[in-house]
Amino acid sequence: MRASFSEEGRVAFMKITFLGTGTSHGVPMIACHCAVCQSKDPKNHRTRPSIVITLDNDKNILVDTSPELRLQVIRCGIDHIDTILFTHAHADHLHGLDDVRAYSEIQGASIACYGNPETLDRLSTVFEYAFRLQHLGGGIPQLELVTIDGPFQLFGVEFVPIDLLHGTTEVLGFRIGDFAYATDCNQISPISMDLLSDLEVLVLDAIRWEPPHPTHFTIPESLEIVKQLNPKQTYFTHMTHGVEHHSTNALLPENVQLAYDGLVVEV
Ligand SMILES: [Zn+2]
Ligand SMILES: [Zn+2]
Ligand SMILES: [Zn+2]
Repeated sequence: MRASFSEEGRVAFMKITFLGTGTSHGVPMIACHCAVCQSKDPKNHRTRPSIVITLDNDKNILVDTSPELRLQVIRCGIDHIDTILFTHAHADHLHGLDDVRAYSEIQGASIACYGNPETLDRLSTVFEYAFRLQHLGGGIPQLELVTIDGPFQLFGVEFVPIDLLHGTTEVLGFRIGDFAYATDCNQISPISMDLLSDLEVLVLDAIRWEPPHPTHFTIPESLEIVKQLNPKQTYFTHMTHGVEHHSTNALLPENVQLAYDGLVVEV
């Protein structure tokens, strides 16, 4: 039986499904013959980064629409999407948006897309046809843009946007109850660090071992962030082919592990 919402309107139970955990190239990379790219272990195969948050009222919140969206949702059995949140508009987080037309057709309704103004501006340029042709119906995703300008409620649950820096790009992380998702960042302000305190589960960008990287935290840098925030459990995401799943996990503390495509975590 599912848990219900707590008195304070916070979600009492949440399921996080990792659709993709790879960097922008994906792993294996095109034309790469390294050991990780050649690995037969599915945990070393990483599609572009995205998660689904399933609330305890069964609503599915998709975070980002990766270029592999269709394959990811079929693999993970995601039969409905109720809302989409965007972290930022880089291609690895946005370019699968057209695939959500299957959901808007099946559900007979448009799907709300939440993002900051820069992300929504980029989205409406890249997917201009979806807005220009919407009235014709059929074959186009039916989308509704919603600007994030502070904490917002979805299906009775509070979502707190967290400002992150990804080089010079402003990215949104999201905190829902005791869970937070912080992909694509290499700088977190003191205010945002405060918003990420006392977490059960943190998902954090950790692109590769070798520092520095101009736009992403590396594994040593992310371990430093984890030390400061001290969440109960952390999962790293957005990894390159330089990160072998099992040998890396063996080097990480027990409460910090690499996420992998298809991983499901309950919070
Ligand atoms: Zn990315
Ligand atoms: Zn490789
Ligand atoms: Zn990015």
